[in-house]
Amino acid sequence: MSSPVQDGPFKHGKKFRAGVLGATGLVGQRIVNLLANHPWFELTEAAASERSSGKRYAEAVRWHLDTPIPEAARDLVVRGLEPNLDCDFVFSALDSSVAGPAEEEFARAGYPVVSNSRNHRMDPDVPLLIPEVNAAHLDAIPVQQKNRGYDTGFIVTNPNCSTAGLVLVLKPLADAFGLEKVFVVTMQAVSGAGYPGVPSVDIHANVVPFISGEEEKMESEPQKLLGRWDGSRFIDAGLGLSAHCNRVPVLDGHLECISVSLKKIASLAEVREVLSAFTVDAELASLPTVVQNPVIVLSEDNRPQPRRDVDAGNGMAAVVGRVRECPLLDVKLTLLSHNLVRGAAGAALLNAELLAARGYFHRRVDSQSEPQLAEPVSR
Ligand code: NAP
Repeated sequence: MSSPVQDGPFKHGKKFRAGVLGATGLVGQRIVNLLANHPWFELTEAAASERSSGKRYAEAVRWHLDTPIPEAARDLVVRGLEPNLDCDFVFSALDSSVAGPAEEEFARAGYPVVSNSRNHRMDPDVPLLIPEVNAAHLDAIPVQQKNRGYDTGFIVTNPNCSTAGLVLVLKPLADAFGLEKVFVVTMQAVSGAGYPGVPSVDIHANVVPFISGEEEKMESEPQKLLGRWDGSRFIDAGLGLSAHCNRVPVLDGHLECISVSLKKIASLAEVREVLSAFTVDAELASLPTVVQNPVIVLSEDNRPQPRRDVDAGNGMAAVVGRVRECPLLDVKLTLLSHNLVRGAAGAALLNAELLAARGYFHRRVDSQSEPQLAEPVSR
């Protein structure tokens, strides 16, 4: 039985039912937590590996959040990855070793799949989405469905955790001044590696200057995100991009030192102003998880810091500080973003909200609860 929807662009009066694949992992449990009291969505299914399936969610999960496990999740029996869940769409927070085929099977079975995993991000017909940056890329969904023979199902992905914050900062700069080159050095939190992640003896009082596959992701994903969909394919942004990625002993929050060269000359004051003024349009402003100004610019010399600033904007903001001249490129700055929220669970939730608002979700008529159709009022 679905709960009544509190607001949003729906005339059906019911919330969309969400399943979470990989619900027991660090990202999955963040999604489970964000779904508690969500005005448009409710959690009806949790799925994970054989280690967890068949158990109550509260028994299967190693809960890492400070708040208790939401009531709606505690007694759910964790399911396996068979695409027969009682929900209207799924979030995927699966380990990348299994996410690729599992997400395809769910999409083929008619489920919209809102994925965190890397497997399909760079597929030529799969949107890699940050709503504030490239909402128009959702127009690729009908092409994906046609290419792959999907009916109501499809896959939409969010970027890698360190790319998410970076691109939120690059987008307003690209629009205002044009971008030529980007050089970025990351200091990435241990929670970015999932649970149990990096062994404590390797990371305690140490820095590990290598994260497998991370630099490649940071150098390719922004090209797609800042590029465009031309009706049949994604055209890359054509940026010069170089990334160095490091793991540091911080729990949550990726810090990034970024230098950029701009196509148009800009003063530091203009750069700060463009970043602070970056705001969402009316369509995005109606989404429950959105922050009106996704980039926050701090003026203190010693900020942003992971411990102090990681939860800015409920974890959905890119926090920028130390905007200054770069002797090699044009401008340099420091960026912080929450890897598990802006870089994963919150990003997926925002993507799902945009998909719902645009009419891409439908109530599954073969579900075990009422067969009532849920249709958005407009796209
Ligand atoms: P995690 O803590 O290791 O969780 C992995 C999840 O996948 C668990 O629910 C696990 O279930 C499930 N799983 C593993 N093997 C499985 C199998 N054979 N069959 C079914 N389920 C299986 O990882 P995470 O950090 O949450 O990351 C999840 C995904 O999001 C990954 O693809 C990751 O690359 C991506 N991502 C992570 C971050 C981040 O900051 N952590 C950011 C962006 C994207 P069990 O508990 O039952 O083993």
